[in-house]
Amino acid sequence: MVYYFRALIRMICRVSSFSRITNATQDNHMMANPDLILLHAPSVYDFRKEAILYGPVSDLVPSTPVFEMYPIGFTTMAEYLERGGLQTRIVNLAVRMLDDIHFDAEQHIAKLDAAAFGIDLHWLPHAHGSVEIARIVKRHHPNRPVIFGGFSSTYFHQELILYPAVDFIIRGDSTEMPLLALMQYIVSGGACRPASGSPDAVVLGSIPNLDWKDSEGLPHANPLSYSPDNLDDLLLDYTHVLKAVVRYRDLASYKPFRNWMRYPITAALSVRGCRYNCITCGGSACTFQAIHNRQKPAYRSPEKLAQDIRRIGEYSEGPVFVLGDIRQPGPQYTERFLDAMSGWKKPVFIELFDAADRTFFDQVARAIPNFTVEISMESHDEAVRRAFGRPYSNAAIERCMDDALAAGCQRLDLFFMTGLKQQTYESVMGTVEYSRTLLARYAGQGEKRLIPFISPLAPFLDPGSRAFEEPEKHGYRLFARTLEEHRQALLAPSWKYVLNYETVWMNRDQIVAATYEAGRRMNLIKGEYNVIDAQIAAATDRRIASASQLITEIDEIVAHTPDPLERQRQLHLLKQHVDDANLSTVCDKRELEVAMRGTRINMLQAAALMVRDWWQEKVQS
Ligand code: SF4
Repeated sequence: MVYYFRALIRMICRVSSFSRITNATQDNHMMANPDLILLHAPSVYDFRKEAILYGPVSDLVPSTPVFEMYPIGFTTMAEYLERGGLQTRIVNLAVRMLDDIHFDAEQHIAKLDAAAFGIDLHWLPHAHGSVEIARIVKRHHPNRPVIFGGFSSTYFHQELILYPAVDFIIRGDSTEMPLLALMQYIVSGGACRPASGSPDAVVLGSIPNLDWKDSEGLPHANPLSYSPDNLDDLLLDYTHVLKAVVRYRDLASYKPFRNWMRYPITAALSVRGCRYNCITCGGSACTFQAIHNRQKPAYRSPEKLAQDIRRIGEYSEGPVFVLGDIRQPGPQYTERFLDAMSGWKKPVFIELFDAADRTFFDQVARAIPNFTVEISMESHDEAVRRAFGRPYSNAAIERCMDDALAAGCQRLDLFFMTGLKQQTYESVMGTVEYSRTLLARYAGQGEKRLIPFISPLAPFLDPGSRAFEEPEKHGYRLFARTLEEHRQALLAPSWKYVLNYETVWMNRDQIVAATYEAGRRMNLIKGEYNVIDAQIAAATDRRIASASQLITEIDEIVAHTPDPLERQRQLHLLKQHVDDANLSTVCDKRELEVAMRGTRINMLQAAALMVRDWWQEKVQS
């Protein structure tokens, strides 16, 4: 026990110095190199030098338009490798570049070293940054393998593997096991590009889901055969991240997104895959089947899901967003999850893919009274919503809203979208009017927990989605198909030109105009019904006006300046205004936040948890 207490005190002392290490990465030489470094790139590299009006593409997610949030898979992969005896370090380059204007990403990469570097190309908006980061890694570490993974890497694997800086791609929605096999091969001295037919080539050829190159540079794609039936072999345990922060003395690179310390929202993963088939979604059932060889959703057991949330709550007061509708696997799952969560007082977000009834909300309220409900209605127009893939009626979802509020949800966020199949400009304005009737019905009677939001389907239709695969059939016209086309599109001067689609009901100009006008009207009615503060509404109104004006100015430059250098020069004159207009355009991000009590992240409790884990491991071994 004495040893235990000494270790606890040592750990607490180290963790208590977190505030002094938020920017400390310079002393890397004092610690052993990890086996794998996972790098998260900004959407565009280097976004700080470009003048790009990103538009309201990230208003409804915690990150900024450079999408600095790394995928949840980084955490599960790092933990899985540690269990396999390999050390992993995460470096969120995007957040470092955002936090410090002088942060030199290339110099930082040059100083890092590991047996291999991993880069996520999960969401397609990272198409530009991820490949540029791979090039920088290769420039400074020519003998270190570069491994890609993620949904977009999987979809574009045949094209991606041809980039000289890319050595390996692990495809599929579950990369933990194949990554461990690949890393074991790499650390044991396996060749990065073995001769065809050699023993090393045989080993590489046996790793499921892997794309690799032989010594001639020829790409090989192994069968995508690893697609586990459930998620119970994973551990979405952020204490692993905390341990790594201590080990590498580098909190700055582990931050999930820029404002995470102020608003530490985290995610818990209930499922990979989905039973629904929303036509623009890259996470739909048919996309998972076609791209990831997933025949049915893989769920995390309800008790393990609850345990993930409880572990986070041991040191964080921030909300946990449960990814995936907890009713999807069936009523028994829901019941078991809520039983396992019973008595949990901290904020939890749940998302609903369909209308739920009062019994469900009463169950939720009993187990997790501090719950917030997220519903994506997409449109007020039932025909548009049905065409998107959500079959419920307005009457059903309105009953559901009544029930959620009556059961005591802390807040109910209602999301609408522009850029949908069968949706016209007038239909978008109809959605805002519908929101007004809802606000009149609820906020007009003093009930301010229901808040509507509207944002564009942007910047890209998801690759692999039904709309992307059969655009004409669904009324979409695509401007980009290949990875390289998307990479180039991301460098366009405004989000209007970045959009990879338009519809037969609205062209790109109309989608942009409808988005800004709907955002403006929605903001005004929220101010009118006092669901947001008058000052916030006024500031948002000014930002929307400024962004609309900038779109017009950028259009003028694009239309009348054929010389690329001169065009670039003129666009750069707008950079400051563009940067100012790039955050929280059609709503203020803080509208999405819930209240928290006490210390947001309690480092002492985190340290105590780590010591407890360490002690349990010791006892078990
Ligand atoms: S958008 Fe539709 S298909 Fe995609 S995850 Fe949500 S419910 Fe499933």
